[in-house]
Amino acid sequence: MTCRWDAIALSRNDPGGSQVQAGKRRMDVKNHDSRKRSVLRLIPLGLIFLVIVYGAWAAQAFKTQWTLINYLINNDLQQMDRSIVFTPSEKFLKQYFFTPDPAQNALAPGLATKTDGLLYRVCSILPGCPKNQPFLKIFLLRDCQQVNQRLLVFSPFQDNPASACFGFFAAQANAVFVSLEDLSAGVLAHEMTHFLLSQFNPVPDHDYQEKWAQYMETQID
Ligand SMILES: [Zn+2]
Repeated sequence: MTCRWDAIALSRNDPGGSQVQAGKRRMDVKNHDSRKRSVLRLIPLGLIFLVIVYGAWAAQAFKTQWTLINYLINNDLQQMDRSIVFTPSEKFLKQYFFTPDPAQNALAPGLATKTDGLLYRVCSILPGCPKNQPFLKIFLLRDCQQVNQRLLVFSPFQDNPASACFGFFAAQANAVFVSLEDLSAGVLAHEMTHFLLSQFNPVPDHDYQEKWAQYMETQID
């Protein structure tokens, strides 16, 4: 595999933020039209972002208690179910009563329990893990190539684009993007660690996050 195994917690800074701020500084009326034009230019960019990142018209979502798994075809759910080899703890199972959508659950029995159980496990290992988190969105992509395409959407203006083969976490969207081809409980636990650490206040730096994320892989697989 040529891709580097890495997962990147992207900065919360909006890549377009400098443009927006630059626009704010222009006070004269003469530049009003050009400001309008630059705002208009952002609209197609925004649409591309929505279409590529969320695949809004095509993707289906499988809701678990704490996550939203976005997938394209039923087989994606089944593939995820097969790839995540993980047994939730007794303690977790005793307090878990979530009922997933019956049709989706029939496709991938136990996937909701495994996904939530894994998030619970990662949180229980992380010291100071916050109790209330937003929904974690999980996007199931085909392979390494698709993961890198999505990563480019989140960091389009970098001279040396980051690469992330198995998956990455995008803090702006509380979303994890993973390659189904390379998925394992360890990979998902790694990205879940980035997600949980991004909820800390203050958010730990990247090196600290990466150490925890890599440690977490060894606690799951
Ligand atoms: Zn990482």
